Amino acid sequence: MTENTAATVAFIGLGNMGGPMAANLVQAGYTVHGFDLVPDALERARAAGVVIADSGAEAVRTAAKEGSGLVITMLPAGRHVVGALRGSEGSDGKDPVEGLLTAAAPDTLFMDCSTIAVEDSVAVRELIAEAGHRVLDAPVSGGTVGAEAGTLAMMVGGAAEDVAEAMPVLEVVGQRIVHCGPAGNGLAAKVCNNMILGASMIAVSEAFVLGEKLGLSNEALFDVASNATGQCWALTTNCPVPGPVPTSPANRDFKPGFAGALMAKDLGLAKSAIETTGIEGRMGLLAEEIYAAFAQGEGGSKDFSGIIELIREQSTRAA
Ligand code: NAD
Repeated sequence: MTENTAATVAFIGLGNMGGPMAANLVQAGYTVHGFDLVPDALERARAAGVVIADSGAEAVRTAAKEGSGLVITMLPAGRHVVGALRGSEGSDGKDPVEGLLTAAAPDTLFMDCSTIAVEDSVAVRELIAEAGHRVLDAPVSGGTVGAEAGTLAMMVGGAAEDVAEAMPVLEVVGQRIVHCGPAGNGLAAKVCNNMILGASMIAVSEAFVLGEKLGLSNEALFDVASNATGQCWALTTNCPVPGPVPTSPANRDFKPGFAGALMAKDLGLAKSAIETTGIEGRMGLLAEEIYAAFAQGEGGSKDFSGIIELIREQSTRAA
């Protein structure tokens, strides 16, 4: 921790990713005031040393009283982030919920690590700025394994001085930290990266199924492509056939890893960005369609490399 960084942070959303990220901050000596809506998540976080508040607003207010100027959110989607920031007035017998924005001290730095739609991130930025605070988007890559190990890749968008202020915290939860430009650019980088990943996993899987039909062994194709121009992460790290890469999910019945549902979600965000910008993005749109179908069935809870099973099955049916 550096001198200008408060040793206290507020952390909202203590699920599969946020829970271990908050736990790593505790391990690194931070006081973390946290909140989640789910009792199990709260219990796990409490056991890891997070100070549990009765609400998100309370976590933010208590952290602010202790000198914290940083609020981290790690929530499922844009609507959750907007809802948590704004709070709600209460209706249909529900109590009002105070928003994080009004509970924060003036000029608080809000760092949203959730993967949300580019359009939602614009709304998030506007809300935060209108309330007199500062904002960073810092979506992550590396899954729950990376969250637990503190090795997440972090794609950060925001003003350079705000990134510098958050850097000690980023360095605890992540390993490869790239400042991608102004606020919103972290998310743009995440959406583009995962569009490459989804499309390349489909291409690698189709190549293995084609190789099988042509009488080529998986090992032989792997040995050629991994040392040739077909080389990519989907092949050399997350190989969709068992054998060549012993640590890839294909060796353990496609237990994730990075679940098909999350890949479908991220490609949905890419699709919406393609449509908004009007770019020529046929590969991205097709990848979105293929993963949306995969995630509707069992694929949603399997590693995204399990797409090869769907391709093999459809190829057998077509033959
Ligand atoms: P998760 O569903 O496990 O956790 C999200 C948590 O947010 C839940 O526990 C939920 O109860 C809580 N929550 C929702 N609304 C809230 C509110 N108003 N106040 C407090 N808590 C609230 O999801 P996750 O896997 O931790 O993913 C979080 C984000 O990270 C998502 O945007 C996801 O796309 C992204 N992501 C996930 C992975 C992964 O492998 N799981 C990898 C990279 C990025």
